[in-house]
Amino acid sequence: MNNLNLQISEFCQQCQNVQNIKGTPVKREETTSEGVTKSVVTISYHCEVCHTFVRSEEHEPEKKETI
Ligand SMILES: [Zn+2]
Repeated sequence: MNNLNLQISEFCQQCQNVQNIKGTPVKREETTSEGVTKSVVTISYHCEVCHTFVRSEEHEPEKKETI
């Protein structure tokens, strides 16, 4: 799976402007209440100009997403 959007354009509160926003994916393991270990990818988005944190997004690669 390689459909993660790591390069987006979004409004930056700090710049008060729409900027290039760069996403950094961090993979971690998470254990559910049933004791099942699953991997979760958290993407942190930072403004490329002022490096302010914009938002983060969670993805579960093993979960099938139906659109
Ligand atoms: Zn900015």
